[in-house]
Amino acid sequence: MPYDPNNIFARILRKEIPCDLVFEDDYVLAFNDIFPKAPVHVLLIPKGLYKNAADFSKHATDEEIVAFTRAIDTIGEKLQLTKTGYRLISNNGTHGGQEVPHFHVHILGGKALSTW
Ligand code: 5GP
Repeated sequence: MPYDPNNIFARILRKEIPCDLVFEDDYVLAFNDIFPKAPVHVLLIPKGLYKNAADFSKHATDEEIVAFTRAIDTIGEKLQLTKTGYRLISNNGTHGGQEVPHFHVHILGGKALSTW
């Protein structure tokens, strides 16, 4: 399946719909989830148009992958999550329960999260 340019995160990237911005650089955008599952619930997305983790891993440039990984810590520091800890989740594909087909990582924190 090709990348769907009308998915909601693509529209946020094009500024067709607003977001509550947390962090942005040349490679990534991070914004608060509209239905937060924790006191802090940020969505980190690459600006490149990748469907899921496999697409990102296979086709993103080294610069994009490094920037994405480094942004996790930048956001952790900015939101004071680093000391107390946080959770990263990336839902991928049908079995992963991915709803928005633009690669993203959820950054969850702000309280002790339940374990599974
Ligand atoms: P997924 O299930 O694909 O991993 O997660 C998609 C996430 O996007 C969900 O947590 C959902 O609440 C969030 N979301 C869906 N639409 C919007 C939107 O328009 N704005 C923001 N900020 N988040 C959204």
